[in-house]
Amino acid sequence: MDIYPDFHGPHADGHQPDAEAIAWQHPAPRSHSVRIVRRTCDCREEIYEFCAGGGLAWIRTTDRSPSAPVVRESHPSPYGDALELWRKIMNGAAR
Ligand SMILES: [Zn+2]
Repeated sequence: MDIYPDFHGPHADGHQPDAEAIAWQHPAPRSHSVRIVRRTCDCREEIYEFCAGGGLAWIRTTDRSPSAPVVRESHPSPYGDALELWRKIMNGAAR
């Protein structure tokens, strides 16, 4: 049981066996400002952030387990599409 549950944000659930594979790519340089709308809890080595900027939204994931953090991003898409992808990641239907 978690002693300090209030300190935790949302976690991405474990991946389902048939989880959709996201085409992660290297972060693109962006001229506009990026807003982090949502992010998962810091207690995991792998965190996800829902980013918005320039009228689009995408998911950024950071794997902090290797010596140098690995950052990947999903393809920028309309806000609603990105939100749907975010929900899939949260319930383990995409990874
Ligand atoms: Zn946590």
